[in-house]
Amino acid sequence: MIEREAEWTGSSESIPYQPTKVVFLGLLSFCAFIIIVAGFLFWYIPSVGLVNIHPALPIVFGVVLAILSLILLIGAIGLSLAIIKGKDIFLSYKFRGILIKFFLPLMMMLGGLLRIPKLKIEQSFIEINNQLVRGMGKKFKPERILIIMPHCIQYIDCKIKVTQNVRNCVGCGKCEIGDLVGLSDEFGIDLFVSTGGTIARRKVYEKRPNAIVAVACERDLTSGIQDAYPLPVIAVLNKRPQGYCMGTGVDISDVRNAIRDFLG
Ligand code: SF4
Repeated sequence: MIEREAEWTGSSESIPYQPTKVVFLGLLSFCAFIIIVAGFLFWYIPSVGLVNIHPALPIVFGVVLAILSLILLIGAIGLSLAIIKGKDIFLSYKFRGILIKFFLPLMMMLGGLLRIPKLKIEQSFIEINNQLVRGMGKKFKPERILIIMPHCIQYIDCKIKVTQNVRNCVGCGKCEIGDLVGLSDEFGIDLFVSTGGTIARRKVYEKRPNAIVAVACERDLTSGIQDAYPLPVIAVLNKRPQGYCMGTGVDISDVRNAIRDFLG
């Protein structure tokens, strides 16, 4: 292990995980502003025509829009408070769905317009998601938890096939798979090494876990959290000393902590 870490000096493609909640809070505030403006425009513009159909229609339409806007604003405020305080505030984890389904796509769009690197938004999202999932305080039995690893974590020249059965690993120490099998045995939790998102989704569908600990890059973790929702996912970012998709690694203590958060 020591020898392997010493080799990892990082590469130009190896991006440090430095999630900043400020990015997320800024975008969230911007989203809230857009919700207010959009709500008003959606009410005002058709109202001019709706009144010709029935005099009460603009009011009905306005009330419906106001309720929708209010739900989204409460979601944004609840999430913001949870982010600022660093803990669950008034069941803010309930807003995880609004965050994943509504705010994240909107933030990605706004981030693109404002030229905020996608990676930064994804890192922030992963951090906030983990905080909300931990804030749920839900505990699960080991057999109901699934650990998903990307195939690129395996030592590139290892000839052993671990994607079919991770127990094929002989624990030679050239990659973290051996340590992860040890974790899997220690806690009695299923470990799966996936060759891609589709295979990972199929595994989740077949096993039907109650909670997931996932290791991958920002992009795959973000899409994985979205796909797995409403399942709680604690996402652990991989290490990329040689860049993406090759010779990646993971901090075993991060995986251990994620497991403990679910086990209690
Ligand atoms: S730890 Fe397991 S998977 Fe990794 S190189 Fe050794 S035998 Fe292969």
